[in-house]
Amino acid sequence: MDVSITDVEAIGVSATPSEPFGYAQAWVTDRTATLVRIEASDGTVGWGECWGPIAGTRETVDEFLAPKLVGRDPLAVERLHDELVDASRAAYMSTIPLPAISGVDIALWDLRGKLLDRSIGDLRGGRRREAVRAYATGHYFKHEADLETQFERIADEAVANAEALGAVKAKIGLRLLGYDHEADVGLVERIREAVGPETPLMVDANYAYDTATAREVGRSLETLDVRWFEEPVRPENVDGYAHLREALDVPIAGGECHDLYGFDRLFEVGGLDVAQPDLCDVGGITAGRRVVERARIADVQVVPHVWGTPVALAASLQLIATLPGDPWLEFDTSSNPLREELGSTSIDASEDGTVPIPPGPGLGIELDRSAIERFRVDR
Ligand code: CA
Repeated sequence: MDVSITDVEAIGVSATPSEPFGYAQAWVTDRTATLVRIEASDGTVGWGECWGPIAGTRETVDEFLAPKLVGRDPLAVERLHDELVDASRAAYMSTIPLPAISGVDIALWDLRGKLLDRSIGDLRGGRRREAVRAYATGHYFKHEADLETQFERIADEAVANAEALGAVKAKIGLRLLGYDHEADVGLVERIREAVGPETPLMVDANYAYDTATAREVGRSLETLDVRWFEEPVRPENVDGYAHLREALDVPIAGGECHDLYGFDRLFEVGGLDVAQPDLCDVGGITAGRRVVERARIADVQVVPHVWGTPVALAASLQLIATLPGDPWLEFDTSSNPLREELGSTSIDASEDGTVPIPPGPGLGIELDRSAIERFRVDR
């Protein structure tokens, strides 16, 4: 196939959620992403997505990565990935701009799939399933009159999500609103009571605690049949992860803030039961598959972290298509106009709560160009 890359463009998009919502570390007042569009000489286009703030990432894609890609073979994705990482390491003094490289990598895989008329799952290990069970992420904090109102609204939301998807993940870390970890345990008790004993319930602390407090909270979560305790401590606290996994029976999850080397360290010390790479941050499909291979050796389950536009969701589904075992999809139910409006077709749960994995070439989705223009942030 005689094609080359002719154009690479980063597009910042931003939208306002219906109302601000919070988790242990911050209030979310806007939803942003940097999309990457890569075009080949035959006119085929691939799309990718970069995690995080637009500023910096957009410029890195347009001014640093794009010139290294134009004229190159779009099918040689892993070679290009490694070249970009190595060139960035030298240029950025070891601080590799992984969100930018992630968006480029996903766009290259989408492009490669479209050129070869195969889905990324087909190209990258083989599709093992056509649909995946999902759990609902949501249940965030909002500005409420008191804790009782807060608990009641979150419990109602969890019941609705449990009915639609069959499994839910609670957010804890009410310190954002000035409460301590006992309030967090109270919230999980309330949700468990509301959704009943059969609903799989996960808990995410977004590193709200020090190790000792996390241990205390973890012991309470064990009595509530919690499926996993996510990001109990700061991502840099690798020893804390190892300690908690040793001390607690509740499985330990994490990794959305880690790169490949961070995962390696966590696997080495036995700090994880569930690894959660974010494809828009860890280094795209290429790095995501490398985490999967390492996790397989370490005997750790992989459940990708998903938080973004339909591109992030579709990329995660393509990785999930290739996973061994019985994986989960993290299904974000929080307010995000980008997720709701950027795709030409939406990715939704079926009646049975599973989410179909798009079978089409590349990511298996198309984007709505007029919606992209509507949310586009100009420089
Ligand atoms: Ca999380």
